[in-house]
Amino acid sequence: MQTAEQKIRETLRQTQHQFQHEGDHVIRWITGGTAPSVHVTFQSNGDHIVARCPLCEQPLGRFDASYGPATYRQLAAIREVGNRHQCLQ
Ligand SMILES: [Zn+2]
Repeated sequence: MQTAEQKIRETLRQTQHQFQHEGDHVIRWITGGTAPSVHVTFQSNGDHIVARCPLCEQPLGRFDASYGPATYRQLAAIREVGNRHQCLQ
């Protein structure tokens, strides 16, 4: 039985490997400020980027691919959702 942390680390390794070949998924940590960090994958989808849980791939939110003025607020919302998120597995 893996702990959640082991599972995340394994997923990170797998995803990094995958990213080198496919270039679409990479796990990123959204950090900074006082809110807990969340880890997500970013998937480019036209003019926005979808952030998903790296373990169950449930979308946690999206933000502008242009990284415009709203991006900070959008990322904060993703962090809020991510911190409450529970995998459906
Ligand atoms: Zn999940």
